[in-house]
Amino acid sequence: MSTHDTEINRDATRLLGLEGVSVTKVKDDGAGGSTVYVVTGEDSARACPSCGVFATRLKDYRTTAPRHLACGGRQVSIRWRKARWHCTEAACARRTFTEAIPQVPARMRTTAALREAAGAAVADGGRTVVQAGRDLGLSWPIVQHCFEVHAARSLPAEPAETEAIGIDETRRGKPVWKQNPDTDKWELVADAWHIGFVDAIGGRGLFGQVEGRNAASVAEWLALQPATWREAVRYVAIDLCATFRAAIHRALPHAKVVVDCFHIVQLAQRHLADLRRRLTWKQHGRRARKGDSIYTVRKILRRNKEDLNHEQRQLLKTELEHMGTYGKQIYAAWQSKELLRDLLHLAVTRRHVTPDHSTISAARHRFFSHVADHAHLPELVTLAETVEQWWDGIETYLTTGITNAASEGNNRLIKLEARNAFGFSNRTNQRLRSRCATTRRSRRETHPH
Ligand SMILES: [Zn+2]
Repeated sequence: MSTHDTEINRDATRLLGLEGVSVTKVKDDGAGGSTVYVVTGEDSARACPSCGVFATRLKDYRTTAPRHLACGGRQVSIRWRKARWHCTEAACARRTFTEAIPQVPARMRTTAALREAAGAAVADGGRTVVQAGRDLGLSWPIVQHCFEVHAARSLPAEPAETEAIGIDETRRGKPVWKQNPDTDKWELVADAWHIGFVDAIGGRGLFGQVEGRNAASVAEWLALQPATWREAVRYVAIDLCATFRAAIHRALPHAKVVVDCFHIVQLAQRHLADLRRRLTWKQHGRRARKGDSIYTVRKILRRNKEDLNHEQRQLLKTELEHMGTYGKQIYAAWQSKELLRDLLHLAVTRRHVTPDHSTISAARHRFFSHVADHAHLPELVTLAETVEQWWDGIETYLTTGITNAASEGNNRLIKLEARNAFGFSNRTNQRLRSRCATTRRSRRETHPH
């Protein structure tokens, strides 16, 4: 060791905080930073990497400059004077070696602390690879590598057990097509659609993502998860998507599908708007314009019953009556939307009381018999048919209050991450970044630093 002829500055060593080296002196580098001279401070650095025997025959010294974190806001340039040793062990094939410490392994030109900071800045801090590289003075490929190492270590290998998951699909960028040189046919290389699997109740973010939008992609991802995890899933929240429902029945036969009520209300609104437009054309032979009764009330029709004041309710009624038969039909359609909303409002989350079977079936009956009274309106019949087809999922929503809101929240985070990165060219990287972004909060709660 070379420590006998140089004096160690213990305070500066502590301040630098780089395990395995000791600071001998610190100089201004003339550019606002510091040049920090260090020597090896760990005996184990002298052990031959091949045979493990401590070397005693010094060959020479060389100085390297591993990159490290800034210290107190000042750039730090390290000059590490490290020894090269002869391995004198007869059985060892290695002749010489250079000292190495865990913070700076052989051939590494950055410290582990710096690499860790770069990975954490992207995975946990929400910095982009470019930003983190600029902050820490590292190139894009190095930061990307640090991020991948950090993500592999901090993301759980298996999804956390949960009672309820949410599945949904989102469009991510453009599909990528490539021409097959053998067949001359264009083939889809990367699908623009991603299916996301989220924790619907535990807030642990995205469990995984797969490309595609069909039942096979859903079933395949589910089948890859541990059996204990699959058994724990009792509810799966989805939009009104028959493909996903079929996949869930196949891959998780014991789990119940939950329909997100938000999408049912949206569907009812859409059918009401279709009917209003159809009947407006029947009445006027054109779109509604100022002065028509339907024009006056079309905004009120979009509102919910409880948001209307007495005056607006009155206006809705009188103007639609003024329209005659078509007006009455539009009013009936608005009522059926509201009856459906009454039914959905029984959900446990809204009332904090689990609705009993008779309350649910009475509200369901009111909606269906209202539609039956207006069975000449195809939009209402279609809506009632959809409610019928998805009844199990709706009823499970009413009694559990589980929604797919977690998927929507994650999609917002993922879009933000993509926008910050100016889009992703690499889909695998995109999925990794998405998982990091959506699990950030729950990972912070489990491992607070
Ligand atoms: Zn050796």
